[in-house]
Amino acid sequence: MRVRIVLSKVTPQAISVPTRCAYAGCGGKKFHLRQEVRKPLRDTVYQEVQVHRYQCLRCQRTFRVYPEGTTRAQTSQRVKGLAVMLYLLGLSYGAVSLALDGLGISLCKSRVYDAVQEASKRVPGLKREQVFAGVKTPALGADLTSVTCKGVSLPLGITVDPISGLALTIDALTAEDSQTLKDWIEPIAKSVGAQVLVTDDADGFKTVADEVGVQHQVCKAHVLRNTEDLLDKYQPLVACDADGSLKAIGVSPQQAAADLTRLGELVKSRQREQATELEALHRRYLEASPPREGGHQSLAYRLRLLFLDRWNLWHRLTRYRKWKGPKEETLDGTNNACERAIGWWIKERYRSMRGYKVPENAVRVSRLLAWCGNFLNTEDGANLAGLLQ
Ligand SMILES: [Zn+2]
Repeated sequence: MRVRIVLSKVTPQAISVPTRCAYAGCGGKKFHLRQEVRKPLRDTVYQEVQVHRYQCLRCQRTFRVYPEGTTRAQTSQRVKGLAVMLYLLGLSYGAVSLALDGLGISLCKSRVYDAVQEASKRVPGLKREQVFAGVKTPALGADLTSVTCKGVSLPLGITVDPISGLALTIDALTAEDSQTLKDWIEPIAKSVGAQVLVTDDADGFKTVADEVGVQHQVCKAHVLRNTEDLLDKYQPLVACDADGSLKAIGVSPQQAAADLTRLGELVKSRQREQATELEALHRRYLEASPPREGGHQSLAYRLRLLFLDRWNLWHRLTRYRKWKGPKEETLDGTNNACERAIGWWIKERYRSMRGYKVPENAVRVSRLLAWCGNFLNTEDGANLAGLLQ
């Protein structure tokens, strides 16, 4: 992985001549250079710069023009960018302040926080209403994660382009029910022109894909993991027919063990035509009856549900085998692009953030992280200088 972040420069000689009066509503275009003023600066190179003080010939008021890489703030854009970059690389606000101190620049951690917020506010797009760079893609990956705000877990929804791996949006969600998920995903799916939705195997996403009218690929890695966990749990139970429920439907422990082993093989091979085999597995357990109200599910009944679920899931699990986008794009069948975005750019970094105080900030900083992530390995890198301008 290659992180390239473009920082601002400070160029004391580069002070542009104003073309419009700085005061709103004046519109004056002629100015008189009144004064050059020395401005102390917090920067890695310059301790001070010259600032030009102009007077507007129309309204007579004066205003200052700052050289490239500086503003009315005491800290240069370069130092702010450096602070944001160190933060993005994993340092806490306090650690950034210490690192800068080591470079001879004093910037307390709340100023570091301010710089990160300032950059976060300017991240273009990555919103439900405005996806990253107006990307169009026939496939849309979606996933949920959460960050902590004042001790309360705040659900975040992230979407990616699973073909390019770019993060497209990050939004705070009010809940995780299928209606909320639909309200979140539908406008994004429409705006990118998605034909297929890639998610983990949470039930809500199945409803969303069906209601939004797109095809659905359920992450093969998730299903494999979940299935293997269940097999580990059930194998020792079927070996001794723990509750006698297999015997009650005339299935031997050996048969049940073989069926589970076969299910494990099927979720690994994932061939579309194997759906009929799953149906047959399910049918062997059809006579296992559901529990009476408030009662426990028998082992045989749990196997019946497990085979049924995988059979129903089969076309969503194997969609990637045949799916092709209009430009021959293909899917790998996983939701790894989402997990990468969440894992590295939200969760990993988030560890050192120790929780946000304001939900809005949590969303903004997550967008800033994802935005930088979108420029990993690109030639131009993430233009932090442009963000801070
Ligand atoms: Zn004026």
